[in-house]
Formats: sequence, structure tokens, C-alpha cells
Amino acid sequence: MPTSTRPDLLLPAEPGQRALARELYALVAQLPIISPHGHVDPALLAEDQPFPDPSQLLIVPDHYVTRMLLSQGVSPGELGVPSRDGSPVETDGRRIWRRFADGWHLFRGTPSRLWLEQTFTEVFGVHTRLTPGTADEVYDALAARLAEPDFRPRALFERFNIEVLATTESPLDDLGRHAKLAADGWGGPGGRVVTTFRPDNVVDLDFEGWSSNVDQLGEITGEDTGTYAGYLAALRSRRAAFIAAGATSSDHGHPTARTLDLGADAAALFDRARRGAAEPGDAEAFRAHMLLEFARMSLDDGLVMQLHPGAVRNHNRWLHARHGRDVGGDIPQVTEYVHALAPLLDAHGNDPRLRVVLYTLDEDTFTRELAPLAGGYAALLLGAPWWFLDSPEVLRRFRESVTETAGFYNTAGFVDDTRAFCSIPVRHDVARRVDAGFLARLVAEHRLPMDEAAETIVDLAYRLPKRVFKFGEES
Ligand SMILES: [Zn+2]
Repeated sequence: MPTSTRPDLLLPAEPGQRALARELYALVAQLPIISPHGHVDPALLAEDQPFPDPSQLLIVPDHYVTRMLLSQGVSPGELGVPSRDGSPVETDGRRIWRRFADGWHLFRGTPSRLWLEQTFTEVFGVHTRLTPGTADEVYDALAARLAEPDFRPRALFERFNIEVLATTESPLDDLGRHAKLAADGWGGPGGRVVTTFRPDNVVDLDFEGWSSNVDQLGEITGEDTGTYAGYLAALRSRRAAFIAAGATSSDHGHPTARTLDLGADAAALFDRARRGAAEPGDAEAFRAHMLLEFARMSLDDGLVMQLHPGAVRNHNRWLHARHGRDVGGDIPQVTEYVHALAPLLDAHGNDPRLRVVLYTLDEDTFTRELAPLAGGYAALLLGAPWWFLDSPEVLRRFRESVTETAGFYNTAGFVDDTRAFCSIPVRHDVARRVDAGFLARLVAEHRLPMDEAAETIVDLAYRLPKRVFKFGEES
């Protein structure tokens, strides 16, 4: 699919390295996409309905876009972000688009600018440069494309050359969309669209409605989630259902990386929390303990664990009160891994049957903590930089920061972590280009022969993520 209009996009500016990088990039430019972690709504592919207007596709759900405009005083309601209390927000796609185009200059130098521009040109073939003055022209051209059958979700999935896409669901999800996908030959174990087990809403005592979520978990599974033993049984049962729907990994988004084995105290803490009598510190201790429980479950059922601590959720309380979760109000915080992960690593860190992929929102930890950890424990792998860190600059710094102690083969490959379906090929293309540049430098400095760089870039783009996330026979 990518990329015709700017063939040397993001490749090194120095001519010698650029020539090497072009050669390396050419080896991976057309490889299939492995997308083991993201937030695309599976309904999109299950129902395969045409996308609505360009704004509903590209602006309203993209919190990178709406938060930047909010930072300059444009309210999310003006951009069509739904309100929590149902009070009216803008619904006219063209008006939303004009508001966005008026703020286009705000995105200069950001990855959002790059993703959107590449989406316009490479995915939609729309080459008119966006300005406030061309807003209508670009909108009409995109809308015309969206009306064509080739721009339905499944047709795009084929054109994007996605081999496997993992969505993310809570244990309370009935996985109905994935059942539909399986019935259509798209889902199920080894399928093209699979799910991921994301249990935060039944694990985190601070999650809105935790206790009623745990009740619901009991109803779905027929287990007695009034007891800790029943709660664990219910979680095991949902993991089995997720695995039957094709899941190969779980996903854990905690405020910190803390792990802990509460032993027999876990049941008492759970009982307190279920009675509504949780004490200060219980939520953190329980989250930490559950990571160890999930590691034990992973040793039994084989799910790869993804751990991404460090987001202060709903930091922008005004935004949360009006528009809810996941609309751009989260902020990264300092995150500590070395001591936090020690209980988990003491228990299972040297067991190669366990696979934990670590992500961060705190770039400082790459060199100091994460690369040495991943470079020293069999169970650990380093996930790609993402969310606040998914710019070409950080992708480059990631390789510079971690390769010295973790090498390439303790990293897990690129993840797009995106809700924006149409940006998937663009984001993977950016990562492939940055890796081509990094490897070209190693070749130019005589640190790696070209044939080994060539093997490495194919591993990074395709073979590693496929193996790490257990897609296909190689696992
Ligand atoms: Zn995610």
C-alpha cells in the first residue's frame, strides 16, 4: 500500500545512509501488517458498513486531534465528541471538519499531522493540501471516496494487507462481534481479527462500577463472584472464552507497574472491597496482586501479558465530567519498574513459558530500567513506544536507548495501539522507515553487514511480532 508521494519520507538526509535505508525499507514496505495491540471497534469489521462522513471517521474519535484543539480552546462538543449527559454536540460533519481545518497549523511537527496527511494521500488518494481555505474541497473528496465499495472496512483491511488485527475487549463483553467475524471466516483462533483480554474494569477497585462489574462477571460465567475463589474461577472462564475467540494476549493498564503476592490476604482484601469497605492502599495492592495471579494463569493458558502502566486517567476532570473516558484527558506520570516488578520477576521472571511485554509512557525508563530488565529476564520483552511516544523521534530514540542492553530480539515489534482504523498502514509504515534509517546507520558505521541488517528489518517488521504474540505456527 504505502507510499508513493514522498518515497524518502523519514529516511536519513545524508545521501550514503539514505541509499542504504532505501534498500532496507524496500524489503519491508510491502510486508503484511501484524497488529497485535489496538483499539479498533470490532463492529466495524463484523458489520462492514460504509464509514460515515470524514469527520466521524477521522476527527471525532481521535483524541490526539480533539485534545490538541481543546488545548487551544476549541470545545470537544464543537468537534462532535459525544457528551455524557446527552446534551447536544455538533453533528454536522462539514462544520466539524471546518473547525478542525482552522486548527490544522497546530499539528505542525506532530505525528498526528504525519498520520493524517499520509492517510489523505496514500489511503484516500486525496492530494489537495489541507488549509482552512481548502477544507470543503478536501472534505468532499474524502466523502466521495467513502461512498465507494472499495472503502468499506473489509475492503480496506484487504488493501492494507493486514494479516492479523487484535482488538481489545473487557471480560464483560459478550464477544458477539468476534462470533460474527468467526462465522464469516474472519475471526476465531488463528483468524484475521482476534480479541485481547483486558480485565481492568473487574480488577481495579478504583474503576467506576467495579463491584457491579464483578457481579456481572459472576452472571456471565455462572461463578460465585461473591468469593475470591469464585472471582478467580470466573476470570479463568472468561480467558478461556477469549482464547476460543482467538485471543493470544491479555492487556493490563495500571497506574503503576507494582506487583505483589498477597497470599492468603488477597481473599480478605477482596471481601472488604466487595462489602464497600476497602481501605486506603487496597486498590493498589489488589491491582499489584492480580498481576501475579494473571501471570500464574498465563503459565496455564498461554496468554501473553501486556503491561502498560503510567497513565493518570482522567487527569482533565472537566473533560471527564462532560465527555467521559478515553477522550484525551489522560496524562503520563513518572513510572518505576525495577522495584515494582521484582515480586513478579522473583516468582516467574526466568520462566521462558511466561511472556510479559512491557510498555511505558515514561521515556526516561527505556535506557535506565526497561532495556536492562528485558535484556536480563527470559519472561520480559520490550513493547514499542506508543501513546504520547509514537512519534518518529521517539521511535528512533527507542532504538538508540534500548539496543545496547536489550538488542533487537528482546523487543516485541511495532504496535499501533490505535482506534483510527485508516491510520494503521500509515503508522506501521512510519515505524518501518525509522527502523530502516537506524539500521542503515549501523551499516554505514561498519557495525553490521548489510545482509544481517536486511534480516533484522524483516524480523522487526514481521517475524518478531508474529512470534512474540503467538500468531501462527512459529510460536
Ligand atoms: Zn492500548
